[in-house]
Amino acid sequence: MDSLDGTYIKEFEAEVTAVFPGIVELNQTAFYHLGGGQPADTGKLVWNEGSGKVFDVRKKNRIRHMIKGDLPDIGDTVKGSLDWDRRYSHMRMHTSQHLVSAVVSERYGSDTVGNQIGFDRSRIDFKPLKLGNTELNMLQDEVNQVISKDLKISISESERSDLENNPEIRSSMSSGLWKMLPSSITKLRVVKIGNIDVCPCAGTHVRSLSEIGDIAFLKKDNKGSEKIRLTYKLND
Ligand SMILES: [Zn+2]
Repeated sequence: MDSLDGTYIKEFEAEVTAVFPGIVELNQTAFYHLGGGQPADTGKLVWNEGSGKVFDVRKKNRIRHMIKGDLPDIGDTVKGSLDWDRRYSHMRMHTSQHLVSAVVSERYGSDTVGNQIGFDRSRIDFKPLKLGNTELNMLQDEVNQVISKDLKISISESERSDLENNPEIRSSMSSGLWKMLPSSITKLRVVKIGNIDVCPCAGTHVRSLSEIGDIAFLKKDNKGSEKIRLTYKLND
């Protein structure tokens, strides 16, 4: 389910493979687990004899659905459904994060050193970056101009060794983030926006930039030692 199409799955069927107090594991899932700055999906699981609310999803070796309500039995077939408004907002927000990071990297040579995706606002930390208010407005215009070109987003899988030596990969990936990836991970999912950005990422994204709408920067915080935090929202 970890494909481009998979990111648009709102409902799915699965088999229960393990049950612990408040936790259900499935043989497959469309729920996104917390990670990469993107919050977990929420939603519900329904089966013949009961239902439970999925209020959090975590991955530790296996994906664990944190449940409030009834618990199914191992072997049960469940229907899962995602809170789609929340998830779709995260997809739009996450894709705009890639785009803003790409434009800032291109224009200012600055790395993305952190990000937090949210439902109605998100933030990205850049370093090193110095940005005045006029420049922030110019950046906003530039990002929205790229959105209006409606570039397509594509997802593929690549060998880690190829990516590590690929100059197209945003420089943010060349330093700290590679070191954080365990050496056991040899293949990575790669998200491309048209011909302007290539970035390894396991999060969820929209298929086309027009789905983002308009980006509006809400604030710019100086976090010291040339680090700047940009907070933004999206207009439909
Ligand atoms: Zn991403």
